[in-house]
Amino acid sequence: MITGKTKLLGVIGYPVGHSLSPVMHNAAIAHLGLDYAYLPLPIDPQDLEVAIAGLAAVGTVGFSVTIPHKQAIMPLMAEITPLAQAIGAVNTVSRKDNKWVGTNTDIIGFIDPLQTTYQQDWSQKVAVILGNGGAARAVVAGCHQLGFAKIHVVGRNFDKLREFQQSWANSPIAENLQVHSWDKLTQLISQASLLVNTTPMGMYPKVDDSPVSIDEMANLPTDAIAYDLIYIPQPTKFLQYAQQQGAIIIDGLEMLVQQGVAALKIWLQRDDIPVDIMRQALKKQLGLG
Ligand code: NAP
Repeated sequence: MITGKTKLLGVIGYPVGHSLSPVMHNAAIAHLGLDYAYLPLPIDPQDLEVAIAGLAAVGTVGFSVTIPHKQAIMPLMAEITPLAQAIGAVNTVSRKDNKWVGTNTDIIGFIDPLQTTYQQDWSQKVAVILGNGGAARAVVAGCHQLGFAKIHVVGRNFDKLREFQQSWANSPIAENLQVHSWDKLTQLISQASLLVNTTPMGMYPKVDDSPVSIDEMANLPTDAIAYDLIYIPQPTKFLQYAQQQGAIIIDGLEMLVQQGVAALKIWLQRDDIPVDIMRQALKKQLGLG
């Protein structure tokens, strides 16, 4: 129920109608019995600055940021956390001392399922990441945070790969990071303890696609973890091939849930976020039962 005292949260994007965040966050808010509402806020890129000022004027507690505003919003923040700075993108904004603070909860979202389920020492381990787009940046930063000895990023466009590598030049991440063209995939997979798909290959409706063929996947060590950022279908072809190989598999749903949990912790300033309720709300919305 909306009251005279309802506090505002939301997601800015353009378009924003496809966002799953309102369903997930409002389920948590309702479960906690809080007087908050989380709204979809479509903001045309040319209106971003005035919209952010407007959100401040109406006392918005915080908001999520999605495409195309994740980089464009950075100059409008009074403060950006080192994590968001490292990734070069903001996905969560909160209010501190009447100023906007930008952070990025995708790293927490990515590493949480690895840390909670498969807690181990990654310091002698190799991570292989497929794709070099926005999500790959959070995955690289996450793998660095977990302490991986080597982080290999595989891409299809050499110029973009080089740009990706150069963008980390001033970061300690550069020491452990190497970029490779796609033809090195088989050789790299055989060294991987963690293989992550950050490309959209295999995402609904192209469910028969996979960034790794079944023959290439035969090189994955049987004790490796295969992690697909895609959350629909479940499992993707990529994860099916990895499972046939005996590997542990993780799909993208938990990352989606955990980045949302991390954002709510910031906005509500409490730790008892109802993760199960958020997960179930998302599954229902995605038709996953
Ligand atoms: P993005 O910035 O567009 O990056 C996509 C990357 O995949 C690019 O490096 C692109 O290569 C590569 N790629 C695309 N098609 C390819 C193909 N056919 N073969 C080889 N490489 C290909 O997208 P993003 O924001 O990083 O998102 C990537 C995926 O992660 C999406 O499926 C998204 O839904 C998912 N995701 C999930 C979560 C979650 O919470 N679970 C969070 C974020 C993203 P080029 O650079 O050469 O174009």
